[in-house]
Amino acid sequence: MANSLESVFSDFVSLFFPRLCAACTQPRMKGEPIICSACLLELPYTDHHIDPQNLLYQRLSAFTPVHTAQAFLKFSKDSRVQRLLYALKYGHQPDVGNFLGELYGARLSSTGMTTKPDLVVPIPLHPSRQRKRGYNQSACFAAGMASTLNIPCAENLVERTVKTITQTRKNRLERWENMQNVFRVKVSREIAGKDLLLVDDVVTTGATLEACVRALTDAGCGAIHIACIAAA
Ligand SMILES: [Zn+2]
Repeated sequence: MANSLESVFSDFVSLFFPRLCAACTQPRMKGEPIICSACLLELPYTDHHIDPQNLLYQRLSAFTPVHTAQAFLKFSKDSRVQRLLYALKYGHQPDVGNFLGELYGARLSSTGMTTKPDLVVPIPLHPSRQRKRGYNQSACFAAGMASTLNIPCAENLVERTVKTITQTRKNRLERWENMQNVFRVKVSREIAGKDLLLVDDVVTTGATLEACVRALTDAGCGAIHIACIAAA
């Protein structure tokens, strides 16, 4: 009885405040979490995980000792993926990150992960930025993946000590200089010898990942695998 009353109430609320799909902003049907079924079907999945030599891996491994690298979705402007990332980063919707992480984790499990990392590590935000946003969007995605893949997630082993500005107008050397010593591993013994799944939201230049990989490698971790929500 209580459940059906709750359901009537939630139907009533959604009549006036329809739940919107975070990808296309159209009203969602009952039982569709975060993203509508049409978007779920039509999102631009990269399937990087079944192509070890994918373009993202080639780009990152040219400068960084990464074992594997994969993006869940292909990023493009004015797209469903851009709206999802906007909702996650600026729309106060951390659930979008968890949901996408769970979705990706399930996809990876179903196609069989050949190597299972020991720890999931999200790229940290600078503390002042995290305070302002209230959460770290990469950590939300990481938590979703970690719970589905049944791997522990460690949010506080690495810290971002420098607040960086946008990198897109800089050349490669300037970006590298800008990212020097941005990350610091707080507890080296926790990652020593461990294979890590390093998680980011969207990869543009790769300079952020590169800097974090360097900090983790210097701290003596094992193999580093990269997973991000989207890459251009
Ligand atoms: Zn939609």
